Amino acid sequence: MVNLLDFDREGLAAYCEQLGEKRFRATQLFRWIHQKGAADFDAMSDLAKSLRDKLRGVAGVTGLPVASEHTSGDGTVKWLFDVGGGNAVETVFIPEDDRGTLCISSQAGCAVGCRFCSTGHQGFSRNLTTGEILAQLWHAEHTLRRRLGLREGERAITNVVMMGMGEPLQNYAALVPALRTMLDDHGYGLSRRRVTVSTSGVVPMIDRLREDCPVALAVSLHAPSDALRDALVPLNRKYPLAELLAACRRYLDAAPRDFITFEYCMLDGVNDSDAQAHELAALVTDRHTGVSCKLNLIPFNPFPESGLTRSPNERVQAFAHILQAAGIVTTVRKTRGDDIAAACGQLAGEVQDRTRVGERMTRAPIRVVPRRSGAPAGRQERNA
Ligand code: SF4
Repeated sequence: MVNLLDFDREGLAAYCEQLGEKRFRATQLFRWIHQKGAADFDAMSDLAKSLRDKLRGVAGVTGLPVASEHTSGDGTVKWLFDVGGGNAVETVFIPEDDRGTLCISSQAGCAVGCRFCSTGHQGFSRNLTTGEILAQLWHAEHTLRRRLGLREGERAITNVVMMGMGEPLQNYAALVPALRTMLDDHGYGLSRRRVTVSTSGVVPMIDRLREDCPVALAVSLHAPSDALRDALVPLNRKYPLAELLAACRRYLDAAPRDFITFEYCMLDGVNDSDAQAHELAALVTDRHTGVSCKLNLIPFNPFPESGLTRSPNERVQAFAHILQAAGIVTTVRKTRGDDIAAACGQLAGEVQDRTRVGERMTRAPIRVVPRRSGAPAGRQERNA
């Protein structure tokens, strides 16, 4: 059975052609699925009967089963979707006065294994398909529209961030058709500025995204030096900071915004000192190696296995002031949905830890080892 959520509009046109139908029929079908949230071919009243007959029995619009849904006191909604094989992925809707943001997962688990990340502690199970990525948006948009009583043409979700479970650029082939559907005027019609891919720094894929589908880019930085970033974001050993920042500068040539967002998770006693704030400011403002950016400081959402704690508020503010004094636009992310464990991977982690990677990571100390002579060593040598 073909899942029509697996196609962007071009893919759906090719599929219609395979069925012996005109390509333009795909646009009608695409609008029924994504704009109206229809899954029943009989409800697609203006679709040619010949196409409806051909689709029946060979294709469907198959969403994901909802394993659970929680709504926080602040309006944040978190869905846990069952993706089979004992795996679940999370999707979070964050309402604000002027926007509704959906945080979408791209993989069941994650292979990158960032030290402070609940998803990383669960290990990697598998890539999601395009249909499974889009099913999260499809379900959230149409469920919220009905619930909020929105009229046709009104949207519940105005922004998407690929910032849920998984490293989206390690699932590139499935990601790009999903992004194209989000941007498509016959799909969700989101502007490139309002769709953000967040990556831990898969340099070659940042370059490909710039060519194939440039949307807003967020990069998980979390450390001002290679020595510390090697310990927090293991992918840094493959793509160190100089290469990552160079890729960010190249990306800006095609990006819909004139800055890259750097995410920086504030970890008490690990990456939050004044000296590290100055080091970070110097790194991103360097005339030759820096990059036009905004810094988003994220209070760490603790989970028991991490052995890490959240930087105190005063420390986060002091860190932010140093960056702001250096002329860098710096925000501190509000924590949302604390009462429903809205930090990435926290709910799914309760479902399963397939690979016991969490146990291994928890035992591992954070060691900061200079890569080359003269590199700053930092001050971390800490047992989790
Ligand atoms: S922060 Fe992102 S890339 Fe790192 S382990 Fe978590 S999901 Fe994977």
